[in-house]
Amino acid sequence: MRHIAVIGSGPAGYYTAEAAQKMWGSEVEIDIFDRLPVPYGLIRSGVAPDHQSIKGVSRRYEAVALSDNVRFIGNVTVGEDVSIAELQALYDAVVLATGAPHDKPLGLPGAELTNVHGSAAFVGWYNGHPQFADLAPDLSGQTAVVIGNGNVALDVARILAKTHAEFAGSDIVGLALDALDASGIERIVVLGRRGPHQIAMTPKELGELGQLERASPLVDPADLPDPGDDAVLEPGQRKSVNLLRAFAALGDAERAAKPITIEFDFFAAPRAIVGDDRVKAVEVETTRLDNGRAVGTGATYTIPANLVVACIGYQTSPIPGVPFEESAGRFANDEGRILPGLYCVGWARRGPSGTIGTNRPDGFSVVEKIAEDIGDGSTKPGRAGFDRLADQRGLKVVRFRDWQKIDEAEQQRARDDAPREKFTDIDRMIEAASKGQPLP
Ligand code: NAP
Repeated sequence: MRHIAVIGSGPAGYYTAEAAQKMWGSEVEIDIFDRLPVPYGLIRSGVAPDHQSIKGVSRRYEAVALSDNVRFIGNVTVGEDVSIAELQALYDAVVLATGAPHDKPLGLPGAELTNVHGSAAFVGWYNGHPQFADLAPDLSGQTAVVIGNGNVALDVARILAKTHAEFAGSDIVGLALDALDASGIERIVVLGRRGPHQIAMTPKELGELGQLERASPLVDPADLPDPGDDAVLEPGQRKSVNLLRAFAALGDAERAAKPITIEFDFFAAPRAIVGDDRVKAVEVETTRLDNGRAVGTGATYTIPANLVVACIGYQTSPIPGVPFEESAGRFANDEGRILPGLYCVGWARRGPSGTIGTNRPDGFSVVEKIAEDIGDGSTKPGRAGFDRLADQRGLKVVRFRDWQKIDEAEQQRARDDAPREKFTDIDRMIEAASKGQPLP
């Protein structure tokens, strides 16, 4: 028997469990840990609430979770409730699938001002992550500046622009929907430090900005390269750039019909956030490309701003004793191997890039490495050993059947047009999980 602990129940964690099942069938036992009482990580807390079809992938993870040799061990924080060393003593392999839940620091003067948020916090807020439920971003001002030209910047701009009706069918949390209903935002500026050819926005997501009820995208034709230059782009990127061209061609009349503008500001590097205690403006330097890099031209201008959301990428949280590659914001690893018996997978291994599906081959690849290293397994105690430790420590472990009760309770309390209303508070989750019987 092989005993595997996977830390993190997001896509990377479940694909790793699935790969281990495929590799060893009933000859493996896998415990999937999560610090929250609810599973699915990025699917629940990162994927936009109005992208329900993407969230549907969790049904595939549920099939893995419900098999006998896989357990969900929720509400247990590795590094606090139990150490990595303790898990290594219990399991043949410990796999860090902890994702990249923290914002890369913006590192600009004024970044600490009130109403300047990182996307991990802002996205976590509208997705009901307990850590960010109290963020209370102030949406009463007129202008929001979204920094970054990736898909997260698109998510944030779109969520800020949508009407109440456009959230029908989404699982945006009520507190965020109420705040958005009262929002005064009319201008959303999306800042890209490079140009249209360098965006990291996929066509489907970018195209959504052209379909919004009360918002229209604005692109300055002068920022667009010569159309002939698009030939060098790979097809997906060419599609995205074509969308920018279509946005640039929108007429004034079409735009006037919609009160919110989503303005793409290219070749625009933020240099400082300005304000007293609260953000008032963003100072920007225009750039030009030099070998693909953004180089400041020395010309600056100021955008008045009441809200800033920095969508510039994420990083993994370091764990004491686990080698970390600071510059890349991920664990130091050799194709998933960190130290003997310790592995990483997904964003924790390669940094925050790629789609959810990219994590699937990642899971299979790390399981191959584990197979090479552990052979037939060992006599380590595995799940029985962890259960003893959890008992001794009085840990309130939330198992998958407990999550199913939370899931049911969230569905029952949903708005009419929503699939669920998430609990944003861990105690409320535990309460829903323990309905009828106490947690062990
Ligand atoms: P990302 O794709 O890496 O984009 C980050 C953006 O921030 C880039 O435009 C980058 O510009 C810019 N940036 C970085 N540092 C900056 C700085 N100091 N100042 C100004 N701009 C800066 O990251 P992401 O948007 O967080 O997305 C993470 C991953 O999740 C991506 O793989 C993304 O595709 C995926 N995702 C997918 C979906 C979806 O498919 N629906 C939705 C959300 C996220 P440079 O290029 O110049 O570095």
